[in-house]
Amino acid sequence: MDPFRKGIRVKREWESYLMATDKINLVGLTLDELAELVATLGGKRFRARQIAQWIYRHGARSFDAMTTLALDFRRDLAEVAEISLPAVARVQESVDGTRKYLLALADGEHIEAVRIPMDKERATLCVSSQVGCAMGCAFCLTGTMGLKRNLTAAEIVGQVCAVMEEEPVNNLVFMGMGEPLANFDNLVKALKILRMDEGFNFSSRKLTVSTSGLVPEILRLGACSDTSLAVSLNAANDALRDQLMPVNRRYPLEQLMAACKAFPLKDRQRITFEYILLRGVNDSPQDARQLVRLLHGVKAKINLIPFNEYPGSPFRRPEEARIEAFQTSLLDRGLVAVRRASKGADILAACGQLRAQGTTTS
Ligand code: SAH
Ligand code: SF4
Repeated sequence: MDPFRKGIRVKREWESYLMATDKINLVGLTLDELAELVATLGGKRFRARQIAQWIYRHGARSFDAMTTLALDFRRDLAEVAEISLPAVARVQESVDGTRKYLLALADGEHIEAVRIPMDKERATLCVSSQVGCAMGCAFCLTGTMGLKRNLTAAEIVGQVCAVMEEEPVNNLVFMGMGEPLANFDNLVKALKILRMDEGFNFSSRKLTVSTSGLVPEILRLGACSDTSLAVSLNAANDALRDQLMPVNRRYPLEQLMAACKAFPLKDRQRITFEYILLRGVNDSPQDARQLVRLLHGVKAKINLIPFNEYPGSPFRRPEEARIEAFQTSLLDRGLVAVRRASKGADILAACGQLRAQGTTTS
């Protein structure tokens, strides 16, 4: 049924939720928006909280399941609203337990979300923020797709719901497909929903946004959200970073570092700097020294990621000894530098290996 006929004024930004059907997708509404919708149906605000609990805590996917709501109210809701998630099109499992979910969106596009087990109890989900990416980093497979479109807040939250229907997740990193800060408004809205007390209730420490270095948006994010920040650095001088990451020509290192220094951090919190090690490109002792100088005075933690090779890539992973020497040289100068274990490489689920081919095309 057409929600307008019901006399409900659908706000303009809700129009994006009216995708596959003519109904409003409740996944992707903030608590205030849910309350507004509930109010148009004559319900009180606490009903919105109940609905959120049903969707996120109890995994309700239909209104029939929401037994604390009156039958009439459920019927009214079902006429104008729905609970819609991306469909799991395929799951691939790596030898190390990492699982790559291929998710189909309502318009036929696909994205990937990767669940990485940390130990028996804990797992991190690497989520996507866009279909493809426009940033064009030279080493990144997602970058070769170009940008197809932004994900809606409903799709960002929906991918988390879709995976959590299968298995638990307790940490989210926006390091899947896309540049999250290039989809700023939807990202911030999704973060708000993911943090909701009545929902998944992820704390700020459990939510990390990774960016290639969009300086104005780093500052905006710091001003409106307390999530953790990761920056894909990959080079410690402008000449090299210009080549590897075109975004550096717009926002060179000096500006990027100034934004990082201005980013609000709690006690003991640090910004994560991701540094992909590329053989013969950025893995020399001099590169390590430059990196130490660059991060002087920044509350930083460095994630060293030996390049994950993929067919057709011009880059190679450095030899083991070279990787170790690089790390040691950072540690010796007092930096926190961890080597990120590349999980899921055998199913192209590791960092930078996401391309989201639909089931028919791969
Ligand atoms: N666009 C955002 C978030 C997603 S990219 C960003 O760039 O930060 C996820 C991470 O994977 C980035 O840190 C990127 O530097 C890294 N990455 C990309 N391609 C890679 C590859 N082939 N091997 C290892 N890491 C890669
Ligand atoms: Fe986009 Fe990040 Fe890949 Fe660069 S590294 S192309 S910003 S996804």
